Amino acid sequence: MQLEPYVNTLGRHLKSRFGTRVRKLSLHAGFTCPNRDGTLGRGGCTFCSVLSFSEDKAEESVSAQIAARRAELKRATRYLAYFQAYTNTYAEVEELRRLYAAAVVDADIVGLCVGTRPDCVPDAVLEILADYRAQGFEVWLELGLQSAHDATLARINRGHGFAAYADAVARAQRYDVPVCAHLILGLPGETTAMMHETHARVLALGVEGLKLHPLMIVKGCRMAAEYARGETLPPTLPDYAAIAADLIRRTPPEVVFHRITATAREPTLIAPDWCYTSFPAANAIAVNLAAYGGQGRALR
Ligand code: SF4
Repeated sequence: MQLEPYVNTLGRHLKSRFGTRVRKLSLHAGFTCPNRDGTLGRGGCTFCSVLSFSEDKAEESVSAQIAARRAELKRATRYLAYFQAYTNTYAEVEELRRLYAAAVVDADIVGLCVGTRPDCVPDAVLEILADYRAQGFEVWLELGLQSAHDATLARINRGHGFAAYADAVARAQRYDVPVCAHLILGLPGETTAMMHETHARVLALGVEGLKLHPLMIVKGCRMAAEYARGETLPPTLPDYAAIAADLIRRTPPEVVFHRITATAREPTLIAPDWCYTSFPAANAIAVNLAAYGGQGRALR
């Protein structure tokens, strides 16, 4: 079932802006993360596994990765360079400037997406991104928040609280840099009401994009041991589809959904088994939205 009649997807947003299909090219530019290298902590967030990042990619230059990913993607003529792996603002400013510039050399690269932690967004980075936006590039600062509840953030070892997110968003707004907040649904100890509260607090601060993920247990993450002991369970497909659809209905129509579910590669994923592909969740969410109303419906 098609999502786009019911959700303002990134694909729909980009098609309307550029008049053609635009795809994201995921890059691994060799960054690390302060929650792994000992600056903030070691071991990282309890749901995160380095096995999810293709380390062999980091050996390739940004331009070589772009060429390789572009060749893999069919039916697109324009692309966004997506700095995805680890914390993509965690380097000296001149190094960031060089890496971002290397990604937008070709004329078919029409934008830049930078994924990072809320506590790693200095004004100098916002200045760089604002400059690309002023040149006409599609620009997104993708902030991993996961939950607005500090107790949950502590439990999953994020190493930052909600205040860091609020501060990064306020400064991004001063630079007119659009923010996409990443939220995980089904984190340990979280009720449906808590997930609604996270969503409401993110909307209240102002946000241009959202990315919804189900909690996934992947090999190599610290949560895998909690899962093996039966202490942490990912959401079921019906539960995930119901809460994701409800949050979409409560989201203003102009907010762009970069994703409404997530996948992991076959050898890496432990659970839930419906996350090998995005189809089961996307279809279940579309069915729910078709029945009960699409994005923004619950705001009318
Ligand atoms: S999820 Fe992001 S912030 Fe957390 S350990 Fe992994 S790379 Fe670092």
